[in-house]
Amino acid sequence: NHIIVNDSIVPETEAHVSYNDRGYHFGDGIYEVIRIYEGSYFALDAHLDRLYASAEKLDMRIPYQKETLAARLNDYKNTEKIENGSVYVQFTRGAGARNHLYTREETPVLTGFALPDKPMQASQEKGVSVYVTPDIRWLRCDIKTINLLGNVLAKRKASDHDCAEAVLYRDEAVTEGSSSNLFLVNNETLYTHPANNLILNGITRQEIISIAKNMGIDVVEEPFPKEVLAHAEEAFITSTSIEITPVHTFKGDVVATLSVGPVTRKLQQALAEHIHTQTSA
Ligand code: PMP
Repeated sequence: NHIIVNDSIVPETEAHVSYNDRGYHFGDGIYEVIRIYEGSYFALDAHLDRLYASAEKLDMRIPYQKETLAARLNDYKNTEKIENGSVYVQFTRGAGARNHLYTREETPVLTGFALPDKPMQASQEKGVSVYVTPDIRWLRCDIKTINLLGNVLAKRKASDHDCAEAVLYRDEAVTEGSSSNLFLVNNETLYTHPANNLILNGITRQEIISIAKNMGIDVVEEPFPKEVLAHAEEAFITSTSIEITPVHTFKGDVVATLSVGPVTRKLQQALAEHIHTQTSA
């Protein structure tokens, strides 16, 4: 297996980063997970745009043109002969003696590697349980930073209650999952939190909103309180890794069961078709 390290693609055993990397000291970095279907990256431009947007919001300058990074990711895909899988790509602000204060002289450090595909079919078919719990994250959840403590604690809590994912709420608003976005369906209408500073605007979320609108399904991007979860006809979570995964049970601070409904199924099928047309050009 190979790893992307800055300008090179090297065997795993030769991949080294400094213990002084600000990623270790402060979680000072950003990342993306990009899916490969049938030998092609899906939504590569959207992921790269979000990566560069995250960098800009954190006052980091990525030392490559987008096209150069895209070319490196394609080289990597070809080197590793990935037909179906995912690539994780991360920039930290770089290395320096530990100091909260960054200087803008640091050189960002790029690493990237393949992630194996997890089997998703059973949960996409049957649905999953999710654990509803407070959102303790900071106020810039729109930035895809590697600093994910609020997310990892929530995921652990969900798993401790036999749930596949945590669904987070802040004050009166359900925000998103610990590593996914959440949608509800009521009356043939989709409901999801607006893309502001309180959620990560998922690429999958954006694809689904546009697919739904094309199918004539109304989409309401407004905050709703957690009590609404108990009355949803359908619910599903979305991400690059889990695509559209139905929710059949809410546990934790909301308790409810629901069935996997027709709108979720229609959207799953439409997303699969969309991915197929986009990646089999
Ligand atoms: N929200 C959070 C907090 C996430 O970590 C993720 C996945 N990285 C998502 C939403 C979904 O984003 P995407 O569809 O771009 O994978």
